Amino acid sequence: MEKVYDVAILGGGPAGLTAALYAGRARLDTLLIEKAQPGGQIAMTDEIENYPGQLVEGESGSALVARMVRQVEKFGAERCDDVITGAELSGDVKKLVGGKGEYLAKTVIVCTGAHPKPIGCENEGKFIGSGISYCATCDAAFFEGLEVFVVGGGDSAVEEALYLAKFARRVTIIHRRSELRAAKSIQEKAFANPKIGFLWDSVVTKADGDEVLSRLTVRNVKTGELTLLTADENDGLFGLFGFVGSAPNSGLFEGILELDNGYIKTDENMRTEIPGVFAAGDIRAKSLRQVVTAAADGAIAAVQAEKYINA
Ligand code: NAP
Repeated sequence: MEKVYDVAILGGGPAGLTAALYAGRARLDTLLIEKAQPGGQIAMTDEIENYPGQLVEGESGSALVARMVRQVEKFGAERCDDVITGAELSGDVKKLVGGKGEYLAKTVIVCTGAHPKPIGCENEGKFIGSGISYCATCDAAFFEGLEVFVVGGGDSAVEEALYLAKFARRVTIIHRRSELRAAKSIQEKAFANPKIGFLWDSVVTKADGDEVLSRLTVRNVKTGELTLLTADENDGLFGLFGFVGSAPNSGLFEGILELDNGYIKTDENMRTEIPGVFAAGDIRAKSLRQVVTAAADGAIAAVQAEKYINA
């Protein structure tokens, strides 16, 4: 007979890892399923400065995640990598169907997080990997000494611009308004960085180039004026990094769980409308998506899963 876990956690970002930690500590038979490397979006972040009690100055997202994974392993949660493509959640035993097999559990905690939204310019898909990226930590080194553009004005855009400035000759933040959305402490660092410049009230409408990205059309949203930016002849290319927010990874649950703009609806105890099914972290409909709120959600979901099993 196939094994039935107490809890199957789908997604290994901070919410999933914290749920696994709490479930493991409660001695629940726990399986954490992750499709790639653990860490989720935070593993792509160069520097975290607002996780309470953080000990390491300037710690990267991947370093924080590595410590979370070690803690999860210490408390005995099983981990597997698989891509889940089907879910049957209504019965007492829930089933998750993946490429490598089927997984049964009494409870499921959905922590599938979110993914970067596209910039929305013409030819965007064509230049992904040959000039366009959504991960500075992954791709900054390719632009050593070159010119780079960043789209967005939130925490991600400004923090990643600061990281890119360690590699690139010049970084220009293209923002659709004349004021950043990012936290003031992050803004101050960017304004003080001589390598970082700004193109206000502007959006990128088109990416272009032969083989690699070397031309960008930018539209001023106030005047409608179009400007063509061209890579320096000696460089031959430049980079375009998109940080215009994120969208939920909830496709698997459409028609199964109640969604709000694509985000899974829960009560304050992380319960969805299906008994034994919980959601935690960025995938959940809520007001603040941070590592600390994802971790808190994960802890609550695991405790509620334990209560559900023991009821
Ligand atoms: P965000 O806060 O939603 O910011 C998205 C930015 O992109 C905004 O400046 C927005 O402009 C702009 N934008 C959105 N759609 C656009 C479009 N179609 N074209 C051009 N620009 C567009 O997203 P985020 O920066 O990824 O942050 C997401 C969440 O993670 C936030 O809660 C943030 O606080 C958190 N986060 C925290 C940290 C940290 O604390 N260290 C780091 C990263 C992320 P407008 O401003 O005009 O709307």
